[in-house]
Amino acid sequence: MRKEIIAGNWKMNNGPSKGLSFLEKLNFSSKEGQRIIICPPSIALGPMKESLVPGLELASQNVHEEEAGAYTGELSAQMISELGIAISLVGHSERRSYYNETDEIVNKKIKRVLGQSMEAILCVGELLEEREAGREKEVVEGQVKRALEGLSAEDMKRIIIAYEPVWAIGTGRTASADDAQEMNGYIREVVEELYGSQVAGGVSILYGGSVNPSNIKELMSKEDIDGALVGGASLDPESFAKLLEY
Ligand code: 13P
Repeated sequence: MRKEIIAGNWKMNNGPSKGLSFLEKLNFSSKEGQRIIICPPSIALGPMKESLVPGLELASQNVHEEEAGAYTGELSAQMISELGIAISLVGHSERRSYYNETDEIVNKKIKRVLGQSMEAILCVGELLEEREAGREKEVVEGQVKRALEGLSAEDMKRIIIAYEPVWAIGTGRTASADDAQEMNGYIREVVEELYGSQVAGGVSILYGGSVNPSNIKELMSKEDIDGALVGGASLDPESFAKLLEY
């Protein structure tokens, strides 16, 4: 059985003090089999980890693709893991577009994350012009295949995939539940082609892009949508609690 995952990606919002007050104010009870993950800015991971209550997990938003070295301002997977953080986002579209992260870099980052026995949440998704050109499946398939290159079926136990169409991120324009299901189902087919049906059936595939308390229920009702990766609506403890309850 795949676990349901609701993850909040805070991006460059909510530093350590807001992060701690979020934890204090968050009034939640997780559903049976639900994983709840918060991805705050890295600088808040340490303090939030110390105040974490059971039922919540923390994830990094990024790691560097190299093990260590002269990369001013960067953080390695090992450093994140040292804090007791066991998950990282990899390949978010904002990193792909603003920091030129290629599929090859995304692949290296995933391997660094797995090298620390952490889980990776691999983010994929097409641009608006790619969807308008009818190329969305081809684009996402390519991103998935290149990101997973060299990974074994065993490694796939620590991979979560998040489909986030770029045109739906921060725009208030959610993909319809049917379109999101269509792509998540397709991603599962791609994983099946690579690793077989057992791995494909076990991998959690999330949807992200303008998810909020009023649209999450319909999205979550779809067979291949195993959870949500939420930006804006995860920043406030009340709204995040509503997402968990949906
Ligand atoms: P929004 O929910 O703000 O559209 O952001 C989605 C996202 O990018 C989560 O990673």
